[in-house]
Amino acid sequence: MEAWRRQLNDPVSAFPVAKAGPAHIATLKTFDPPLSALEGRQFWGVERRGKRLFFPTGDGELVLLVHLMTAGRLKLLRAGEDGPKTPAFRLEFAGGSKLILTENARKKRAGVWLLTPEAAREEVAHLGPEALGLSADELGGILRRESRRLHPLLRDQRAIAGIGRAWANEILHAARLSPYALSTDLDDAEVERLTDAVNGELARGLELRERDAGDKRTYRVHNRLGEPCYVCGTPLARVDFEEHTIYYCPDCQTGGRVLKDRRLSRLLR
Ligand SMILES: [Zn+2]
Repeated sequence: MEAWRRQLNDPVSAFPVAKAGPAHIATLKTFDPPLSALEGRQFWGVERRGKRLFFPTGDGELVLLVHLMTAGRLKLLRAGEDGPKTPAFRLEFAGGSKLILTENARKKRAGVWLLTPEAAREEVAHLGPEALGLSADELGGILRRESRRLHPLLRDQRAIAGIGRAWANEILHAARLSPYALSTDLDDAEVERLTDAVNGELARGLELRERDAGDKRTYRVHNRLGEPCYVCGTPLARVDFEEHTIYYCPDCQTGGRVLKDRRLSRLLR
């Protein structure tokens, strides 16, 4: 998301908005103020908190909020460049360039909100601290607050902002920690390792995204079932946990143990 922010910051603030919309009915989450209120106003840039992108107007009166969820993608089209016929959302700028949101999924989850600055602040009030830049002390405090499994805890935006399921996989693998390990069981050395992994992996991802690398080059563990672990060569494994698919190395992370799908074991008990 930070890579998106850097890419979009200059182009979206270069010209005022000429036309806001159309937006897919499932994508636009607010109707007051109407999207047309953006027309004639200029963004002053893009800010990010966790996985949300905020586009505040230069006059300080409105904030466009975009949340891509899993399948949403933003694309900037130059003047005259062709885009998809029915994007989930479109903004056209006075210079002719367009910002397009697409979502290649049956169920539309990505969202666009047009908010007042006060409402935008409320949206982020419940978010935890940014993952990138966390110190071992800060992360240690979050881990010890309550006993939770590491993978869902890392993804919980109220605890730590900015880590999705793919990066939770990459981070836990780099830290050589089991996705099911309990946060309160980590010793100081493990907290240190997890902190290094959070910062190292997110910085690596940012660098690759800025070079326009695709998922296949960016992720070394996520979505690579059966492929050899990049550290030890063991085939990577997969387990489902609370609607999420977790990828991990049974040798580097779980001491050879294969993790059980906990939903299934609950049903069969
Ligand atoms: Zn391994």
